[in-house]
Amino acid sequence: MTTSSCDFEKCEAIKENLKYIREKIANAAASSGRSENDVRLMAVTKTVDPVYINYSIDECGVDLIGENKVQEFLSKKDSLHLNGVAKHLIGHLQTNKVNKIVTEVDMIQSVDSLHLAKEISKRAGEAGITANVLLEINIGGEESKTGYDKKTLLSELSELSELSALKVNGIMIIPPICESEKELSKYFFEASETFSEIKEKSLTNFDMKILSMGMSGDYELAVKYGSNMVRIGSAIYGARIYK
Ligand SMILES: *Cc1c(COP(=O)(O)O)cnc(C)c1O
Repeated sequence: MTTSSCDFEKCEAIKENLKYIREKIANAAASSGRSENDVRLMAVTKTVDPVYINYSIDECGVDLIGENKVQEFLSKKDSLHLNGVAKHLIGHLQTNKVNKIVTEVDMIQSVDSLHLAKEISKRAGEAGITANVLLEINIGGEESKTGYDKKTLLSELSELSELSALKVNGIMIIPPICESEKELSKYFFEASETFSEIKEKSLTNFDMKILSMGMSGDYELAVKYGSNMVRIGSAIYGARIYK
């Protein structure tokens, strides 16, 4: 990842985009009787040049970033102005990379199996920390996606609650691509219900407070259905260029 200088127009666009997104979030929160402060905005920074990530942190108030890949995050992090900024891993995590990342991020949003959860708890325990995680549910039951099968997750909750160096803070979903808003709403609603269902159980080592759903194309709808963390990449930084 090369660090170039900041292109003025691109920086202006990022600032405008964030202003627009924050307004939309505030309106969506208000329309569901909530305050804009209830909804946390994550800037998804995968493939984004550090110079633009730093601009959004230094000049636009971004205080939470999400990265998908362990290697990409580790190679970029020293170039980032991360003072006071929370870092979350949001992409699929392989068990053999857990020890590289568990002490580097504030939360792992992509826990999708008991096997992975156990490894995170084990490594966190060895490092003397508690790992904050979200459980990722494959809400559309799609073969092509990672994430917990909902039934499997519900059946493994008690085992998850026994992992002493793990703290479950909530759930994360990526819905399937939908033809209509109605269809998409169904997934957001289901995620919201599942979140409440797990919360009501008041399990040990669970503190259900984050419902992470909503991306560039659907965050307003997600907020209307109770999301309190939206993960937004391309609507802030522009289309991603994969190298
Ligand atoms: C890339 C990514 C996002 C952001 O996607 P955009 O559509 O660019 O906003 C959000 N969540 C996850 C898990 C992602 O991988």
